Amino acid sequence: MAQIDLVNLSKVYPGDVRAVDDLTLTIPDGEFFALLGPSGCGKTTLLRTIAGLEEATSGSVRIGDRDVTRLPPGKRELAMVFQDYALFPHMTVVDNISYPLKIKGLAKEDRLDRAVKAGDELSLDGLMERRPSELSGGQQQRVALARAIATHPQVFLFDEPLSNLDARLRLEARTFLKRLQRDLGVTTVFVTHDQAEALAMADRMAVMQSGRIRQVGTAREVFQHPVNTFVANFIGSTPMNLLDASVRGDALDVAGQRVDLPEDVRRHVTDGQEVVVGVRPEYLTVSSSAVDGGLQGVVAIVENLGTAALVTLEADDLSVAVTVPDGEEPPIGADAWVTPVPGRVLIYRREDGELVDAPVAAAVG
Ligand code: ATP
Repeated sequence: MAQIDLVNLSKVYPGDVRAVDDLTLTIPDGEFFALLGPSGCGKTTLLRTIAGLEEATSGSVRIGDRDVTRLPPGKRELAMVFQDYALFPHMTVVDNISYPLKIKGLAKEDRLDRAVKAGDELSLDGLMERRPSELSGGQQQRVALARAIATHPQVFLFDEPLSNLDARLRLEARTFLKRLQRDLGVTTVFVTHDQAEALAMADRMAVMQSGRIRQVGTAREVFQHPVNTFVANFIGSTPMNLLDASVRGDALDVAGQRVDLPEDVRRHVTDGQEVVVGVRPEYLTVSSSAVDGGLQGVVAIVENLGTAALVTLEADDLSVAVTVPDGEEPPIGADAWVTPVPGRVLIYRREDGELVDAPVAAAVG
C-alpha cells in the first residue's frame, strides 16, 4: 500500500480553465479520503490526473516512493471504479474481473485464481458466468469492485461509485465499501457530490472550490470547525447561520442587537471590525422568554425534518435558523430568543471569509 503525494499539481484545459490549480495534498497510506465540492470544482479532473487519464499541466503525483506523473495509467498500480462501472457488456463476470490481469500479462491460471478470489470476497460466486445485463445495479457495482481488487492495487480511485444505486442499496453499499477498504487497507480517494456519504465514510476529506482545496480535515473538523465561510456554507444538511456583525468592545452588534463576543476570539478581533458570525442551527437553543445576550426574533417558518424541526426566526435585517426537537416548536408569530451553545460560535473576517482565529495549518489551497 502507499501514500499519495500531490505537489503543486495543476491541470489547465484549453481556454485557461484551471480545473486543478496548484494543489498540494498528502493522503497517508491506508486512508479513505473523500473529495467534496460543488459541481465543476475539479473533483473528477483531480481524480483522473492522479489516475493518469489526464496529463498534469504542472506539478507532480507520487504514489509511495515513485514519481508517477509521466507514467501511463497501467503503470501506476492503481484501480479506478467509475460511476457507470465501465463493464464490458459482451463478457461474463469472470472475464470482466480478469480482463485487466490479461492486459498485465498474467498467466491464465493465475488470472482465474485471482478473479475467483475477488469474486468470493464480493459474494459474486454463482454469478461468475453471467453477463452484466443479467445483473442488478448493486451486483454490477460489486463486479467493478472485484475487478479493482483483483489487480492488487496500491491505490483505489472511486468516482461516485454509489450514485447509480437506489437509496436503500446505496446505504448498504456504503457500509460494505467502507468495511472492504478497511479490511484491505488500500489507500482510497473517493469523489462524491453527496456530503452525507463523505461524512459517513471518509477518514478525512477535502472541500474543493475552483480547483483549489479550501479545507482538509476529518468529518468532525470540517462540520464543526469550517475554516472559512465557503466551507461553512457548503457542509451540513441545513446551512450554517452566517450573520453580518460588527465588534463593539467585548460584544457584537448583530443587526442592531447586542450579543456576547466569545472570550476565546476576543484577542483576534479589534473594536469596530466587521465580521461574520457563524453558528449551526443545531448549536442554537430557543427560548420563549427573554434571554440576556440572546438574539430576539419572531417565529416565521417551521419546517419538519423528521425527528427535529427547523425554526426560522426573523427580525429587522436578521434571519436565524435553529433546530428544535420534534414537538417543541414554538408557535408561528411568537416572540423567541436564541442563544448559542457555548464554544460553538465561529467568527470569520468579513473581508476574506476566513476564521479570525484559524490555525494557519488548517487553511490550505
Ligand atoms: P461534477 O461534480 O459536476 O462532476 P467536478 O467537480 O468533478 O464536477 P470537473 O469535471 O473536474 O468538476 O471539471 C472542472 C472544470 O474543468 C469545469 O469547469 C469543467 O467545465 C472543466 N472541464 C472538465 N473537463 C474538461 C475538458 N475535457 N475540457 C475542458 N474543460 C473541462
